Amino acid sequence: MAILINGKEVSAEVKAGVAAEAAKLKEEKGLKVGLAVVIVGNNPASRVYVNSKKKACEEVGFQSFEYALDENTTQEQLLDLVDVLNRDSRVNGILVQLPLPKHIDENAIINAICVDKDVDAFHPKNVGRIMIGDYAFLPCTPAGVMELIAHTGVEVSGKNCVVIGRSNIVGKPMAMLLLHKSGTVTICHSKTQNIADITRNADILVVAVGKPNFVTGDMIKEGAVVIDVGMNRLENGKLCGDVEFASAEKKAGYITPVPGGVGPMTIAMLMKNTLTAAKQQSRVKK
Ligand code: NAP
Repeated sequence: MAILINGKEVSAEVKAGVAAEAAKLKEEKGLKVGLAVVIVGNNPASRVYVNSKKKACEEVGFQSFEYALDENTTQEQLLDLVDVLNRDSRVNGILVQLPLPKHIDENAIINAICVDKDVDAFHPKNVGRIMIGDYAFLPCTPAGVMELIAHTGVEVSGKNCVVIGRSNIVGKPMAMLLLHKSGTVTICHSKTQNIADITRNADILVVAVGKPNFVTGDMIKEGAVVIDVGMNRLENGKLCGDVEFASAEKKAGYITPVPGGVGPMTIAMLMKNTLTAAKQQSRVKK
């Protein structure tokens, strides 16, 4: 039976470290770390995420600035707000909650965020820096997954790592971070043939597909580390991952639950990135 990787516990440790450093910054430099969170429209899932991010800011002693904009906000208006936040010295990190309403070009907004305040690490410059392994900010979800893997004590170096999913925010950067740790990485996607043959060779399996129960126990190598990034809302309102937990936990060595696995880590890593941004900006100002 697999050992459960407790994302709530690991994220609490990360946040405690961030809180201690934020308190030190305040004491030594009089600086209160600030995160601006922008939400456009009434997407209920986005509202839940934004509330969790605000709550995490409180926990670690950051100031949070929320900008809740109307669904009909124009791209120009949003760009103007980003411009104001880029120049606001109280704001160290800017997060624009995605998805945005269809009439707004997400890339145009991401590209407008100051690279030094891009705590989601979605700006093409930060994405490029991740590619070459010289980064200030790691994308929050893959960085959280790396923390969870580190927590198991399993070394990535030399291991067969399989990532299912190739999105810009999870799958691709995830594969890159595993590669930086010298894993032998295979990326699977919707056109991949015989996926189970590939996953059965994975010592470390990261699943980010967005389909409930996509990975079943028979697709997992005995003793593997299985990280379930999926967050799927079922008709009964319950949250479930991409991995069929009951069969998977019988095969895996370590496994994350949903909820309580990767989700809390994503937010903890956002706090870590915001702290990094504040430290960098305070150095520049001196
Ligand atoms: P996405 O942009 O929809 O990407 C899904 C990926 O899965 C795509 O690369 C797609 O392949 C692949 N895929 C779809 N069907 C497949 C199949 N039958 N076989 C193999 N691959 C298949 O989703 P995402 O943004 O990466 O998110 C993935 C999941 O993670 C979602 O459930 C999301 O809610 C969750 N998530 C959780 C967190 C967290 O903090 N826990 C953060 C972000 C996302 P193609 O590229 O070929 O279409």
